Amino acid sequence: MNNSIERVIDDPQSDLFVIKPIDGKGLGMFAKCDLQCGTVIVCEKPLMKFPSYSSSILLEAIYDKLDSETKRRIQFLLASQTRKHPLVGICDTNSIPLAHDSNEKGLFYYISMVNHSCESNTFWIWFDYNNRQEMTLIADRRIKAGEELVCSYIERFHLRERRHEILHNNWLFKCQCDICERHEKDKTSDVQWASYSKAIDFILEYGSKLSQECMEAFSKSLKFVQEHYHHSLLQTFMLHFCILIPCCMLKQWQDVVKYSRTAIRLGKIIYGDDYERYLIPIKEIIEAEVPMEYRTGLEKDFK
Ligand SMILES: [Zn+2]
Repeated sequence: MNNSIERVIDDPQSDLFVIKPIDGKGLGMFAKCDLQCGTVIVCEKPLMKFPSYSSSILLEAIYDKLDSETKRRIQFLLASQTRKHPLVGICDTNSIPLAHDSNEKGLFYYISMVNHSCESNTFWIWFDYNNRQEMTLIADRRIKAGEELVCSYIERFHLRERRHEILHNNWLFKCQCDICERHEKDKTSDVQWASYSKAIDFILEYGSKLSQECMEAFSKSLKFVQEHYHHSLLQTFMLHFCILIPCCMLKQWQDVVKYSRTAIRLGKIIYGDDYERYLIPIKEIIEAEVPMEYRTGLEKDFK
């Protein structure tokens, strides 16, 4: 998210990634070695946290209380909209929402350097639990040494035109990732891409009423993720989590157990040591719905 190739970033001293300039794109994060799917690439505490719709006055008040080293690191991040108030520009360009439904955003020194791609190979998760307040960048699939690490800044499964509109309005660039190039020429694959998120929304909204239809949407979506979204760890986890309610409504207990096991296994990779807290909803569904005789062994999976 920045556009200078002359500035020198503090060495991250990581075995997993390096920050390097990219021709015409500023700086970017690259894999130093082959990364397995689920690898935690970097965990970072925010340089600064603020409400999503902060005024320049509020941002300045928060910034003024920071120590000089943190201020130096914030000033290293550049704004894509230079006409704006400098701090507002830096925050708009580089901040990351602290959770899917959060009203708070954060600035990060290294993770804010990750460039956008609609075909991302990483995702970020905000951990806010006990004394841990960290943004974590995780490999969404196997990544080869030397590959650029990219993340999607937006809800990625929109039509190309809509993705470009959001990216331009917020970050003033035109995405030229492989998916966008392909969707420019092939409208059918663009529509197929966007219909994936409609399927997920449908399962979440109608899971308890139109269960059979949701099961069909699940099968199609899983095939889509496998064939067109590199078996994404995050999407595969979400799909297996979403399908549990429709499965329970249809009393397909063996499927509930099978899909729970996959969701628990992937959830452990994604959430690491904090997995128990994040898998509580799955535990609750199983305890409330699944007959005792089908639950045998599932308790062990949670451990
Ligand atoms: Zn793109």
